[in-house]
Amino acid sequence: MTNIDLNRYRSVLEAKQAELVRLLRNRDGIAIERCPDALDEVQYATERELAIRNLDRESSLLRNVRAAFCRIEDGSFGVCLHCEEDISPKRLAAVPSTAFCIVCQEFADRSQCDGAETLDELLIAAA
Ligand SMILES: [Zn+2]
Repeated sequence: MTNIDLNRYRSVLEAKQAELVRLLRNRDGIAIERCPDALDEVQYATERELAIRNLDRESSLLRNVRAAFCRIEDGSFGVCLHCEEDISPKRLAAVPSTAFCIVCQEFADRSQCDGAETLDELLIAAA
């Protein structure tokens, strides 16, 4: 991987990180709404659940992006964390924050567990 490649991935990741931080800061969707109408209550609960699911997804994406920055710094970017083979440029172009080659991704999905980082810690670190 050349420095030109790395710089390109770095700017893609920076844009992604900025976008995720902006999305995560916009947490109005989770505010607990009080409404006297039972049907509206259901509607609000559904929307709230959706907002929480999106936050979960976005915060785990942000974690991946931050981990990718660490790999750029330590020179391991573009190398699969599991089998240590190069990740294909095609896959990196599609998912620059990925830490695994396509073969290992399924394994990673199965064994992935959430770390100790909370959303707030992520937001502080990303600011
Ligand atoms: Zn692999």
